[in-house]
Amino acid sequence: MMKSNKNNTMDEDADIIPIDLGPVKAFLIRGEKNFLVDAGNPGDAEDILDEVMKEGVEPDDIDSIIITHVHPDHAGSLHELKEKTRARVVVHEKEAENIARGDFLDAPPTCLKGRILSFFLSIFGSGESKGTEPDILVGERFDLSELGINGSVVHTPGHTPGSISVVLDSGEALVGDLVMGGLLLSSSKPNRPIFAYDLEGAERSLKRLLKGDVKIRKFYGAHGGPFPRDKIVDLVG
Ligand SMILES: [Zn+2]
Ligand SMILES: [Zn+2]
Repeated sequence: MMKSNKNNTMDEDADIIPIDLGPVKAFLIRGEKNFLVDAGNPGDAEDILDEVMKEGVEPDDIDSIIITHVHPDHAGSLHELKEKTRARVVVHEKEAENIARGDFLDAPPTCLKGRILSFFLSIFGSGESKGTEPDILVGERFDLSELGINGSVVHTPGHTPGSISVVLDSGEALVGDLVMGGLLLSSSKPNRPIFAYDLEGAERSLKRLLKGDVKIRKFYGAHGGPFPRDKIVDLVG
């Protein structure tokens, strides 16, 4: 059967496949071009590619990898993934140097839960990563149609200075750590991030997403979720 060339419309969901990596998720988005959002912790590359292949996508067929922000649980396996897929790496310009050096950003806790978690993370460490030279640097907004994807990348700072969100024309957004699930970070009730360099900035970014040109129906976070629009409205209302 011929594949339809029709663009996604509001009533046609994008083909978003969460890749569960334990404490964090990455995402495969299948379409005319396949792409990954985020790259897991160090050591996750094989698990990510196994899941990708289970979905019938070969590593070579991954066209781009969009990194929502340069924390170890989101960019940890980027170097290996880039080697195996030769995909183009997309990151915000403010975090380009960090990704090139393999140097992860700090995660200042915003609450007691964040402080406790960061204590444990400092014990276990976050592994090491080799640097990866990014291919595409995003400023305030980047139109993904250049990469064959119906959507855009938007700068949504707050959790980190260069956090970005992927907004698909079909009404889904992949927002990295701009919101997180509740208790144990895994629930479907969204909360403010427990780590952020600018918590108010994160809230402003969420509000901007709610007011954007695309009416986002579903917010995909990397910890918990996905969160329906009304729960995000309740959170920042
Ligand atoms: Zn993060
Ligand atoms: Zn995270």
